[in-house]
Amino acid sequence: MTERTGPVQAQYRAGEQAVQAAYAEFIRHTQACAECRTGGMDCEVAAQLRQVWRKAKAAVVA
Ligand SMILES: [Zn+2]
Repeated sequence: MTERTGPVQAQYRAGEQAVQAAYAEFIRHTQACAECRTGGMDCEVAAQLRQVWRKAKAAVVA
């Protein structure tokens, strides 16, 4: 991975933090949600959180 500097780096880091926050929220939900834990599949809330996470990741890449 190449080293990024300046405004690009700041923007990238902000995006990365959004990804981490979205991921943490998704994980927190799956650990607290009985449906997610026992079902082994995303419930509706988890699916939404996963989408938020995906969008955040896509924004970082773009
Ligand atoms: Zn759930």
